[in-house]
Amino acid sequence: MKEENTYQICTHCVMDTSDPDISFDEKGVCSHCHHYDTFYKNIYPFNLSLEQRKSEFSKIVDEIKSARSYKKYDCIVGLSGGVDSSYTAFKAKQLGLNPLAVHLDNGWDSEHAVKNIELLVRKLDIDLYTHVIDWDEFRDLQKAFFKSSIIDIEILTDHAIFAVIYQLAKKHGIMHFISGVNFSSESTMPAAWYSGSKLDAGLIKSINKKFGTKKKLRTFPTVSFMTFLRDFPALKRVDLLNFIDYDYHKAKQLLINELGWIDYGLKHYESVFTRFYQGYILPEKFGIDKRRAHLSSLVYSGQMTREEALSKLEQDKYETELLRQDREFLLKKLNFSEEEFAKYLKEPGKSYTKFNSYTRLLDENILVKAIIKTAAFIKKPFNKLFKLS
Ligand SMILES: [Zn+2]
Repeated sequence: MKEENTYQICTHCVMDTSDPDISFDEKGVCSHCHHYDTFYKNIYPFNLSLEQRKSEFSKIVDEIKSARSYKKYDCIVGLSGGVDSSYTAFKAKQLGLNPLAVHLDNGWDSEHAVKNIELLVRKLDIDLYTHVIDWDEFRDLQKAFFKSSIIDIEILTDHAIFAVIYQLAKKHGIMHFISGVNFSSESTMPAAWYSGSKLDAGLIKSINKKFGTKKKLRTFPTVSFMTFLRDFPALKRVDLLNFIDYDYHKAKQLLINELGWIDYGLKHYESVFTRFYQGYILPEKFGIDKRRAHLSSLVYSGQMTREEALSKLEQDKYETELLRQDREFLLKKLNFSEEEFAKYLKEPGKSYTKFNSYTRLLDENILVKAIIKTAAFIKKPFNKLFKLS
């Protein structure tokens, strides 16, 4: 176990004590490495050999095609303009599927992301639905999240894209969601580096109620907890990249060669907000460098050595001029004064558990206790009526 305030970095990957929950064994190997070995290697589809995974996957592809029937689209894919989602769309098309691509324009797309999406849908001949978010409402929500000081402001975009995908799948009768989530480049993410579930509309609503100026959401796409429980089994999620031998850098090169795709730099930097959030806000305010998690995932899956990951951490810095431009752009776009922003950066981060959320309800069994309490309350008159003991 790590001692309080003692810096330590894993001897096998590049995770370190910036994750407050990390622990190390006697050889200095961290809990994330052990988790990868004991957990990921044993879950579906990683418990299968690559050959078995491929044959399993061809069965899934057949199932998706057979569900097409009279419908135009047989699956739905999210498209951010980044490597994982672009390659997922490319692969889906290559497999003979007819996906409906969905993009969420939250006002922060980089020029490269927009060009990549245009290129991809044109060259692959894919229909694209772009949901343009109401900017005034979204700005107010993002500012509310800044005021809350919780980590993971990106939960807003992640939740909204999921809600739009869900609504469109329902509208078009699509039964399969092909996701770009993959364990080979994103198997590690410490719990302290995000705020519960991305599906947590309860957290978004409670932070908006407390810090937003409009209190009630008008157009922001959300999925309620009950809708999720009731309807989600109907939309089957397929993590396509987990069934193939996915290599992040090879996939990127293929997109560049085959489609003329533009390399925008680091993972998730297709959005200006994400670039600034991960490259500046997280290290400055929370002492976190998310690249550690992404690079460590690549080390686990054998796509990078620890030495390469360490040198990437040194080399791939946020370029000074780009950082200056992004900072100016963000402050202006969000209507932040220098003083307001400096105050935000200085304020210590807060846990999302300080706010109402579905995750908190489940974690602390508040929902279960409430049901038991209600059941006990109802039971009393029943006892009298039926003379139950
Ligand atoms: Zn490790």
